[in-house]
Amino acid sequence: MMSEKRFAFDEVNQELLAFLDDSPSSFHAVANMVQMLEDAGLTRLKEGQPWSLEPGKGYYVTRNDSALIAFKIPRKDFTGFQIMASHSDSPVFKVKASPEMEVDKHYVRLNVERYGGMLCAPWMDRPLSVAGRIVVQTGSGVCTKLVKIDRDLLVIPNLAIHMNREVNDGYKYNAQKDMLPLFACCGGGAKEPDRDVSCGKGADKAVSGGRDGAGKPEEPSKGALWRLIAREAGVDPKDILDMDLLLYNRMKGTVLGLNGEFIASARLDDLQCAFASLKGFLAAVPAESVPVHCVLDNEEVGSTTRQGAASTFLKDVLMRISSAMGRSQEEYLMALASSFMVSADNAHSVHPNQPDKADPTNRPYMNGGIVIKYSANQKYTTDAISGAIFRTICRRAGVPYQIFTNRSDMLGGSTLGNISGTQVAVSTVDIGLPQLAMHSPYETAGAKDTAYLAEAAKVLFATAVRGNGDGSYELVWPEGQDSHNGLWQTL
Ligand code: ZN
Repeated sequence: MMSEKRFAFDEVNQELLAFLDDSPSSFHAVANMVQMLEDAGLTRLKEGQPWSLEPGKGYYVTRNDSALIAFKIPRKDFTGFQIMASHSDSPVFKVKASPEMEVDKHYVRLNVERYGGMLCAPWMDRPLSVAGRIVVQTGSGVCTKLVKIDRDLLVIPNLAIHMNREVNDGYKYNAQKDMLPLFACCGGGAKEPDRDVSCGKGADKAVSGGRDGAGKPEEPSKGALWRLIAREAGVDPKDILDMDLLLYNRMKGTVLGLNGEFIASARLDDLQCAFASLKGFLAAVPAESVPVHCVLDNEEVGSTTRQGAASTFLKDVLMRISSAMGRSQEEYLMALASSFMVSADNAHSVHPNQPDKADPTNRPYMNGGIVIKYSANQKYTTDAISGAIFRTICRRAGVPYQIFTNRSDMLGGSTLGNISGTQVAVSTVDIGLPQLAMHSPYETAGAKDTAYLAEAAKVLFATAVRGNGDGSYELVWPEGQDSHNGLWQTL
């Protein structure tokens, strides 16, 4: 292993934690990635308009504002696509319509439902707030605005131990009963005056609505959250037609451990991989393949949406790249045979308090490098060929890798690789970064692993994999882009 000095771990972590804090929903995560792509000079494409693509340039397209695909056209003719796919969503509580629920005419709770399979307990007894998107009526139709109430607003209180002495022996959480956040106390108060609707940029500024926005307490009656969101967004409540609102954990990401070995934050699964993929993508100079940074939505609920891994989004984009470059359908299929995909979704590290939950011989640890995931029943796509190709890429990048398999008596999870493979059938490897407490609203990971994945992604995106159709593959490394010569510094 070469010197690790070239990995700017601290810098990468600070940037990652800022990205995570700023991405309380999949919509915010995609908006932040769009900003990074714009800053790097990539051009926005729209699915509803014709695409004309030029060699040497980079492009991106979004779907539902919650999934994103970015790619670069190499200067010379390309053989295939080098894809890294991750997901933008995390398990969370979604606010239902008409959410205010009174208790004894004294408290108001919000009615919420589960999105995905979260750990329930850690959502309790900590400051929470809401973020997401609203859809607002305009003169000619509707427009979307991101919203984030940027203050401590809600709490889901536990029941005292005195009222459930057995809770520490295990508790079955009822999402309709136990997980509703406390929102307000009933009492007097004046309604806020309405404001004019505006979808302009100026309306995005934060307003501490309800508490000190206009000096008057908010009436916690029906529609109080709607009015709070309207004030935050700077629009008239009557002009909001609908919204996708999610709870988020207010605790900011941090670095911890005796020597700062760990990072902890909300949404590490899977924005840690999405961020590393984007950093590698921005740093890579493509040679003989099209690098594709792909972030899909709805992995936590099975991927079967218009913007999920089971959708045609990735396939549509790859086919349009192919036809915009003047290629036939046969040439598109030939390119798929010389393509490679990395399905990047976080992995389980050996747990310090539960080390026997991990496989006896394949034991990934935080800071041990990228985890390659195997499953005999193909819940993970990795096979000996894709595993070997990815190991070669890690070696070329000079980053460590380790192996995950489930214990043979445990089912384990699944991810987006094999689902995506039903639409875009390319050789795929499933990988992730090792973490603890997956699907908690505050997860823990290694302080080194993000930088390792970004470096491997950079090599992946600059490489071409040529499939010979007989079980042999050629890996074409870019000239003058040996990662050992310090290209990392361009990140
Ligand atoms: Zn995940």
